[in-house]
Amino acid sequence: MIDLLSGAGGPLQAWGGERLLVRPDLETGAWIVIAIHSTVLGPATGGTRMKTYPHLEAVVRDALRLSAGMTLKFAAPGLPFGGGKAVIAVPPDFPPTERPGLLRRYGEVIRELDGLFRTGPDVGTSPDDMDVIGAAAGPFVFCRTAEAGGAGDPGPYTALGVLAAIGAVCERVFGDASVLGRRIVVQGAGDVGGPVIRGLAAAGADVSFSEISDSLTRDYRAGLGVPFVDPDIALAAACDVLVPCALGGVLNSESIAGLRCAAVAGSANNQLAEDADGDRLRRRGILYAPDFVAGVGGAMAISGIEALGWTVEQAETEVAAYVRRTLHRVFDMAEAEDVSTHALTRRPGAWRRRICAAEGGGGLLRLAGYVAEVMVHLVPGVERDPAQRPLRRVEALVDHDPLPVGSEAGQHVGEHASGVGELTRHVGGVLLGVAVVLDPLFAPHQRR
Ligand code: NAD
Repeated sequence: MIDLLSGAGGPLQAWGGERLLVRPDLETGAWIVIAIHSTVLGPATGGTRMKTYPHLEAVVRDALRLSAGMTLKFAAPGLPFGGGKAVIAVPPDFPPTERPGLLRRYGEVIRELDGLFRTGPDVGTSPDDMDVIGAAAGPFVFCRTAEAGGAGDPGPYTALGVLAAIGAVCERVFGDASVLGRRIVVQGAGDVGGPVIRGLAAAGADVSFSEISDSLTRDYRAGLGVPFVDPDIALAAACDVLVPCALGGVLNSESIAGLRCAAVAGSANNQLAEDADGDRLRRRGILYAPDFVAGVGGAMAISGIEALGWTVEQAETEVAAYVRRTLHRVFDMAEAEDVSTHALTRRPGAWRRRICAAEGGGGLLRLAGYVAEVMVHLVPGVERDPAQRPLRRVEALVDHDPLPVGSEAGQHVGEHASGVGELTRHVGGVLLGVAVVLDPLFAPHQRR
């Protein structure tokens, strides 16, 4: 049934990740799939999605795509985490009584990975679930409830980033970041869409929403008086900004042809069904805020609060400022290079070299990184120590790309440097030390 392994250019090969774990849960008939896309910048980190899928191949494909998105999501703001994602595929009509046992067994799988993969909630899981998973997994679980010592639901932080993204696209398209009076359609009123709808309503936007859950529809339609749009026609509703906050793949050749919005900015991961959809949007004159920037808020804030010691206020400020600043940079560069915003951020090396490094200071670190690579090749054993995270980050900067492409530039430097001798070794050693010490200074979100 699974045809992911066959043929060059198949999904597994195109994925380019590090490890894929596929585990049947024999007690329930569920599947646990953990995709570790990259640990170059730190432990692979990403949410746990729990839902029903038509077949195992769809589960694996979802995990592969989502994990790659997480690599970009963390790398772009310079956070010390890699990309990963877990998907738990449950059978239809999965009995709630079996849920805690399944989550505990999943937690044991995470514990076996011993820090290689860290997780938090995603569609179908909650901070309460993280408490159950965390009881078995140990310290590798983010977003537990406040009672269990965690930072709780990431949704409101993600919503904050989405609101900043909506402001950024409005500023670019209409010359004003204010949403006052703007017609905005939010697809999905869940953990992210809900606070986005409330934030937009409070800011005076002409907001409407679509939802497939009856109870959420009642809450927002009758409870808050927000106009409802039938889910079947929501994507084609006439509006200024469309905000996808449901599931991925909603922007495809068919739906893009019917869009009647000026811009798209939402949290849903993998909003574009395929890369060509970025060009389709551009040809239609619709500005697209890449999802891994617009939807970064939860990942950024929670990892900042729980792992980097940020305060809640600091996390909120960082998220809003990062999303706004980065989107404007992406829009400027895409315009200057006459490409779609999606194509710009998908170019090999483009993200790290052209966008992150532009935040300042990347040049010196890259220079030192080249020398660090020389050392990796000259000093036996250095590259085998996975705890040398600063060095690994320098390595990642050497090829200007967060993706695990094997540091080709570094290998190149290493090949040419072998035989240069003792002098290179010592000078390289000093510069390597400088790079490791200076590294945090050049990662904007670890300065404080
Ligand atoms: P959620 O499950 O809480 O909410 C999604 C909502 O969309 C649900 O209420 C669901 O009923 C609704 N929905 C599903 N299909 C729909 C359709 N066709 N039309 C209208 N509504 C529909 O999920 P969430 O946590 O709010 O996340 C939303 C999206 O954002 C997901 O793609 C998720 O991966 C992504 N995301 C979430 C976070 C986060 O912090 N929660 C962070 C980054 C990205």
